[in-house]
Amino acid sequence: MNKKYEQLKKYIDKRVALGAAMALFEWDDATLAPEESVENNAKIKGILAGESHKALINEEVKALLDELKDADDLNETEKKIVNIMLKEYEQLDAVTAEEYKDYNELVANSINAWEKAKESNDFSVFAPYLEKVIAFNKKMATNRNKNNDSLYNILLGDYEEGFTTEVLDKFFEELKNGIVPLAKQIKAKEDSINFDFLRKDYDIEKQKEFNYFLAEYIGFDFKKGVIAESAHPFTTNWHNKDVRITTHYYKNQPESAMFSTIHEGGHALYEMNIADKYTLTPLGTGTSMGVHESQSRFMENVIGRRESFWKPIYGKLQEMFSDNLSDVNLEDFMKAANRVEHGYIRTEADELTYSLHVIIRYEIEKLFMENDIDVNELPEIWNKKYEEYLGLKPRNVSEGILQDIHWSQGGIGYFPSYALGSAFAAQFFHKMQEEFDVDKALMEGKVDKITTWLKENIHQYGSAKNAKELLMDVTGEELNTKYYVEYLREKYSKLYDL
Ligand code: ZN
Repeated sequence: MNKKYEQLKKYIDKRVALGAAMALFEWDDATLAPEESVENNAKIKGILAGESHKALINEEVKALLDELKDADDLNETEKKIVNIMLKEYEQLDAVTAEEYKDYNELVANSINAWEKAKESNDFSVFAPYLEKVIAFNKKMATNRNKNNDSLYNILLGDYEEGFTTEVLDKFFEELKNGIVPLAKQIKAKEDSINFDFLRKDYDIEKQKEFNYFLAEYIGFDFKKGVIAESAHPFTTNWHNKDVRITTHYYKNQPESAMFSTIHEGGHALYEMNIADKYTLTPLGTGTSMGVHESQSRFMENVIGRRESFWKPIYGKLQEMFSDNLSDVNLEDFMKAANRVEHGYIRTEADELTYSLHVIIRYEIEKLFMENDIDVNELPEIWNKKYEEYLGLKPRNVSEGILQDIHWSQGGIGYFPSYALGSAFAAQFFHKMQEEFDVDKALMEGKVDKITTWLKENIHQYGSAKNAKELLMDVTGEELNTKYYVEYLREKYSKLYDL
């Protein structure tokens, strides 16, 4: 091994370990930590983040990276690791350890303020924190802006390399043109699908049992993963043998937990299937939020909401909840599971209107990152866009601008990943169908045929390939929105008999 690389590895190991400690803390905060732990835990997390910053940003690492970036005796994996470290160095070097610690503390308190604001339906509780979070992100982006780029592009690149506003403007325009007319046609028919049977009482313990079954059915490995409960379902991991997901059970909405479990299960499969050679290195995790969402949304929507997926297992669900489902046939269950409902809340949105929620957030982020906007104007801007795209005016800030946690966490530039993920998923699916009969495999209960394809083509690479490379290597072309729009059009025209 290259001597310099060996020296660098010590820093990488420390950084990976500190990253794991921070992720474990976040997991604990969301699942088990007591209410009053917030402020002190924020301090601990701030210190860990500061140490993690120091493990990377120092003279020795700088000198090592400088020498290693042109070294010719590194293997492919080492080269990629050096490249990722160079990128991270560039990101983090824009702030001092002190500033980074302050920012992490700010974010921890900002999340707390957002929770309170949402609970009390009062934007003013969160507004000062949002203002600071935006200001800090602008400052970091300005420091990193070497090519006179837009500040928003700098942040977007952190979530999805190469997907600038130029690419995304075009992408969202194509989506809008495809989705808005379709959604309007369906809105008139929205009440035609019955889902009363999903609003009856579903025993939570039995739901849990069924969700564990579902997770296992799609290949979630309980020796490498656990499922807990949290207000908002999420996935976290620190290596491919410790992947954690959460779900949330509602008594009168059993489909919520089921599709969350499949969604988070999709994230988890991605992480569990990454090749061992990348474990505990910067390559040992999913490559980007967009690709991550492509895997979770693929499992949730493309596979999990498919009739052929349910064919072998719907009988089990019917049997477990026979009071509610014995006279509901599979076809009616599928219609209910796929129905479109123009709503206020992104996380509850159906597959068709989901991207409209994302477009709204993208446009608002672009607006406040590229202009000086008084944060107090944002709730009204938000409401206007909801009226324009979804025909709905939010009745209050909790179901309006305060509904998502992301901005309180500093996650600006993250939202486009959700829509990109759906589009990547449709493009991957198109390719998969060319290679084998997906419905046949599902009807035979062979979900592993699908997940093995995902593992071989996408999962195993971890961060060794970015989204653009994966799209090109797997499908032979760059992002092509056509597949997603066609997928939606076909699915929903059939469902609503358009
Ligand atoms: Zn997700």
